[in-house]
Amino acid sequence: MQALTHRAKQVNRSPMNFWERLYLPAIFQGMSITLRHFFKRKVTYNFPEQQRSFSPVFRGLHILNRDAEGRENCTACGLCAVACPAEAISMEAAERQPGEEHLYREEKYAARYEINMLRCIFCGLCEEACPKDAIYLSETFAPSDYERKQFIYSKQDLLIPHPINEPEEYKKALGNRAKPEDKS
Ligand code: SF4
Ligand code: SF4
Repeated sequence: MQALTHRAKQVNRSPMNFWERLYLPAIFQGMSITLRHFFKRKVTYNFPEQQRSFSPVFRGLHILNRDAEGRENCTACGLCAVACPAEAISMEAAERQPGEEHLYREEKYAARYEINMLRCIFCGLCEEACPKDAIYLSETFAPSDYERKQFIYSKQDLLIPHPINEPEEYKKALGNRAKPEDKS
């Protein structure tokens, strides 16, 4: 058959020698490689029973932060939403009313705050843009689900537990950010 291009290469098809025709040496060589890997350290994890440790700079699920008195840090300034390259963040601002000083740290707060985890690329730019230390990326995954709407995380899903009312959950949510005094 005539070649369509001139890139064909001649393959050297020299006849097999006696050992190659036996196939046994090749089989034993393959078995020895399998056996060698059998005793090597395993690179796979038996998830979820076995959890792998993450890098200290791992960026996971977002947390909306509170101050030491449990007041929400977020002032709904919108800088995180502007910085987000995936347009995953949306919010609505509201004005703090008299008597709500124990709930919100400043005069303005986020009445609604949502992150679409299907859009998020976990780049961490929202955390960097925030002037109020109100959002950070934790060491947790967004759990899997069957419905897309479950990946729209509301403010209640994202808010860190109250440090005074739920101290244990608060310490757990802090993760690597916990100071030595928080861990005790
Ligand atoms: S981590 Fe990045 S992509 Fe995700 S919400 Fe923050 S800025 Fe947007
Ligand atoms: S999380 Fe930070 S940057 Fe985003 S709206 Fe709240 S205060 Fe502003």
